[in-house]
Amino acid sequence: MGKSTLFNRLIGKKEAIESPIAGTTRDRLYGEVVWHGKKFNIIDIAGVDYNGKEEIDLNMQESVNTAIEQADLILFIVDWNEKNNEHDKLIARSLRKTTKPVILAINKADNMERIQDSEEFNRLGNFISVAVSGISGIGTGDLLDEIIKKLPKAKIVEEKKTEEINLAIIGRPNVGKSTLLNTIIGEKRAIVSAIPGTTRDRVTVKFMHKGMTINMVDTAGMRRPGKIKWDSIEKFSLFRTERAIRESDVVVLMIDGTEGLVSSDANILGKAKEWGKGVVLGINKIDLWGERKEDKIAITIAYLQRKLNFIPWAPIVFISAEADENIAPLLNQVVTAYKNRLVMIPEGDLQQIFEQAKNDNQQLENVTSLTQKRTKPPIFTATYKGRKEPHQTQMRYIENKIRDVYPLNGTPIFIDLISKRAK
Ligand code: GDP
Repeated sequence: MGKSTLFNRLIGKKEAIESPIAGTTRDRLYGEVVWHGKKFNIIDIAGVDYNGKEEIDLNMQESVNTAIEQADLILFIVDWNEKNNEHDKLIARSLRKTTKPVILAINKADNMERIQDSEEFNRLGNFISVAVSGISGIGTGDLLDEIIKKLPKAKIVEEKKTEEINLAIIGRPNVGKSTLLNTIIGEKRAIVSAIPGTTRDRVTVKFMHKGMTINMVDTAGMRRPGKIKWDSIEKFSLFRTERAIRESDVVVLMIDGTEGLVSSDANILGKAKEWGKGVVLGINKIDLWGERKEDKIAITIAYLQRKLNFIPWAPIVFISAEADENIAPLLNQVVTAYKNRLVMIPEGDLQQIFEQAKNDNQQLENVTSLTQKRTKPPIFTATYKGRKEPHQTQMRYIENKIRDVYPLNGTPIFIDLISKRAK
């Protein structure tokens, strides 16, 4: 049925807890769900053997009636592959009579084509319906939203304030963005929701990694049925990419390891840096490198360091989105970049770094102070005396000295210059 896959995804655990419920001989799936600060319990009544033909009506009717009596809300799960299923119709008949809220979840709606082709299920009754996919997580966030809306009794809980990392995966078409997304969704029990007010090609994918919630906005869109001509997308995609970067904390630029950089990559990375975003480089498709992998890794690192010399601090991770290789290290770097972006360097350390830099470099003579004024990303202020503004290379020198002590991998840092007189 695939129902337990959906169930597990909703409760966000690897396995649903099976607990015997009084009055039944059968163990039932039971789980607790917390969504947007509200908590509710979910029980799978599954008390019906859908394959056994005999007495099915009676059994089913009983199970459904009990569920209706006990529950505050009924989640009616049907299988997309089984339109016009007689058992569903029977269940629907009972559900149409209840005054309790019923939400119809059309499971196994694994792609856009299927989502759009779910109308027929509305014949089951006037239920709120959501197309979902337990396997891929599609629609599960929307389903939870609907449940919460209809469940006034859901307890408000103190949600542990976990910070969310907004992550944008960018890169030119065909580098493997959707593949990476799907690999992560498959592995992480991600909750996938449509972004309110947008079409379904903009979705967020939420999952946990290293104790952090990562909120990934999919700019590639979900896999579309058939490919749309790229040139029509091209115009639109720069705008989408820029918006995704603006809304993010960290950007992963994906590069096809068999092709290298394209000119727009450096451009877009320049913007990401300028806007103060964390950056991680993901070199994809290394499964195609075959035996010379080690050589190619060394060559690629040298090549990227040369071409992207304005972001020497961006970590490079070699992955295969398709073969599920090195995805965790990639996400580790995302978390590190996020944390580094928040760093406030202790005042004493900063003074020491500054003094040392001045000692080592005569040209910093006119620079009189260095302080960190804010973070996210770290921004410093350097004051100078005299008429002549110190050259940018001097600021880079200071940046390097800071990074010798605090590498701050994955995040840009900025040093603003202020004339002492202006201060
Ligand atoms: P997007 O346009 O950036 O979202 O790229 P897709 O995810 O659609 O991938 C484009 C093509 O590259 C597809 O045919 C994928 O199967 C393939 N692909 C993606 N990742 C990998 C990978 O790690 N290894 C290999 N060999 N192929 C990949």
